[in-house]
Amino acid sequence: MKSINFISRYFAAKKEAKLLAEVYAYFFPKYQCSKWLLLMGKIYRNYFYRCTIVVDSCELLEYFRALNEREQGFSRGDNLRRKRTCFIDWLSEADNKLDAVTILDKDMKDFVQNNFYQIMDLKSIKIYCPDCKIDFKYSEIIRQNSKLHKGWNKVISTWECRVGHILHRQESVAHVFCGVGS
Ligand SMILES: [Zn+2]
Repeated sequence: MKSINFISRYFAAKKEAKLLAEVYAYFFPKYQCSKWLLLMGKIYRNYFYRCTIVVDSCELLEYFRALNEREQGFSRGDNLRRKRTCFIDWLSEADNKLDAVTILDKDMKDFVQNNFYQIMDLKSIKIYCPDCKIDFKYSEIIRQNSKLHKGWNKVISTWECRVGHILHRQESVAHVFCGVGS
């Protein structure tokens, strides 16, 4: 029995290595990462954001490493995890002396933005207001969501800089069945 287990483990490991190699082939960027990573910006064509948001690649690396450790044993071997392994490898090769902003390709950008709100809590986050032409911390941004009432709601979420320039605005529709302030 032992040898059968060993053999199946061997083939499982081989299969996993092959799948990981496939992810690396299409997902691992061909460019090197610099000190800063563009988390949100005009070039990503997300028109809900007027601001530019960057994060320190070292801190992002720590964040993804910690996430990997926390999720040890969960969702092992799935594609998300393989992509994360790949991303961590790429970030650990970043040139932190190069004080420039790296723009992510679409696959990488989508992968990173899946954790957008958690990443926004990192200390190194800088939010650039195009009107003030300076950076703000996330905690300095005035964030508002419109109040909800029973029934259909147009939900407007906005971010403003200290001076009141709109940095982010998004409208969506939500239906509330009961309770909220009615
Ligand atoms: Zn401003």
